[in-house]
Amino acid sequence: MADEKLPTRGEDFSEWYNQLVLKAQLADYAPVRGCMIVRPYGWALWENIQQALDRRFKATGHQNVAFPLFIPKSFIEKEKHHVEGFSPELAVVTIGGGQELAEPLIVRPTSETIIGHMWSKWIQSYRDLPVLMNQWNSVVRWELRTKLFLRTLEFYWQEGHTAHATREEAVEETRQMLDVYTDFAVNDAAIPVIPGAKSEAEKFAGADTTYSLEAMMGDCKALQFCTSHFLGQNFAQAFEVRYLDQSGQLQHCWTTSWGLSTRVIGGIIMVHGDDQGLVLPPRLAPTQLVIVPIFKTDEEKATVFKTARALKAQLVKANLRVALDEREGFSPGWKFNDWEMRGVPLRIELGPKDVAKQSAMLARRDRPGKEGKTSASLADLPLTAEKLLAEIQQALFDKALAFRRANTHETSTYDEFKKAVETGFAFAYWCGNDDCEAAIKEETRATMRCIPLDPDAVLGHGHSTGPGICVHCGTPATARAVFARAY
Ligand SMILES: [Zn+2]
Repeated sequence: MADEKLPTRGEDFSEWYNQLVLKAQLADYAPVRGCMIVRPYGWALWENIQQALDRRFKATGHQNVAFPLFIPKSFIEKEKHHVEGFSPELAVVTIGGGQELAEPLIVRPTSETIIGHMWSKWIQSYRDLPVLMNQWNSVVRWELRTKLFLRTLEFYWQEGHTAHATREEAVEETRQMLDVYTDFAVNDAAIPVIPGAKSEAEKFAGADTTYSLEAMMGDCKALQFCTSHFLGQNFAQAFEVRYLDQSGQLQHCWTTSWGLSTRVIGGIIMVHGDDQGLVLPPRLAPTQLVIVPIFKTDEEKATVFKTARALKAQLVKANLRVALDEREGFSPGWKFNDWEMRGVPLRIELGPKDVAKQSAMLARRDRPGKEGKTSASLADLPLTAEKLLAEIQQALFDKALAFRRANTHETSTYDEFKKAVETGFAFAYWCGNDDCEAAIKEETRATMRCIPLDPDAVLGHGHSTGPGICVHCGTPATARAVFARAY
């Protein structure tokens, strides 16, 4: 609740984050180390994220499915890179119903293997393709260092899986889903993202190519927002996912997978939050507006509550997500702070004088003080509120983009590079070599985030073009990449 102050972001960003997640009642620590309990406010936010994405997945032809939590251990071992990548973080079940199991079971870290196994039964001919599936579930990865929403042993996400007849189609699907995620990030989460390709070292275990969206957090570190993988024929070969083509030849399918998890909630907190608490983008906020009644006498209370309840009904009718704070025993000032901490985009203050004038005071969460206040007539309130919410949504995005660009530096020398990743993103020529990438990581703690698909959009202005030399080793560069310290 609002009684104890948060540390400021400048003092201790990490502690600000930890305390805010608890205080805003988004999530709590579970009795099992590294696990998280998502509380109703956090889950409502996740539900809005799910709906925004699910709508887009269905619009692009995908259907939801449910695969089991347990996967036979032998499945994980069938794809060489997959098993190498996931082995260190698997949870394995060896006893069931008091009996030692003949074959141990893996608690799914992701579902490519079991889906590949079933596809080998379901897919026979080119007429069965493409297969476009998605599932909403939770997965388990035995992480050592954990943080609520950002990295937990079990986390919630969606995993999309598709199978195609041709390489081109599968590549197109991988890129389409990256675009779908970008649209969600920009328009719903108000988070500017850099779409790009991962390095060989950072790609998904078993993928040919991994694409990701990278975002800058309020402390200038990077967060991988989501990923989309082109899996080539790797899993199709391991699981014999084949189809008869139009000339009667047996061919392996081309597959993709793509995922976005509850870590995006951590991203929303760290991109938009301020020293007062959460700042939620209106399109995802569980509560978009809160009405706080102000009164002294019982008579005033009766009048104000009557108008406030009618106003709430009017706003609900306009499809806005609204709360009326009728809690007893708390001052309006205390309630203001509490809702500010919880990041509600718009507050409506309603007192006896406002009722007499048939108006109310609106206060924007993203603009503290007088600057963010507007008076509106009650009759027009739903329209005024909708307009303001759209403005807030855009303002959050604009602010985050300006912040990212101000803290991203084009670097040509290694000294400049080292300075840039101390305080933000470095955008630099790179040779593409694994050892060089590992040395950069060792020396600066910065990782190769991605090779941007649209280099011009990173800084928003011109940048040096043409062939360059690697910022670290001085050999001819193969790409311009974004490097940063990351969550
Ligand atoms: Zn190099």
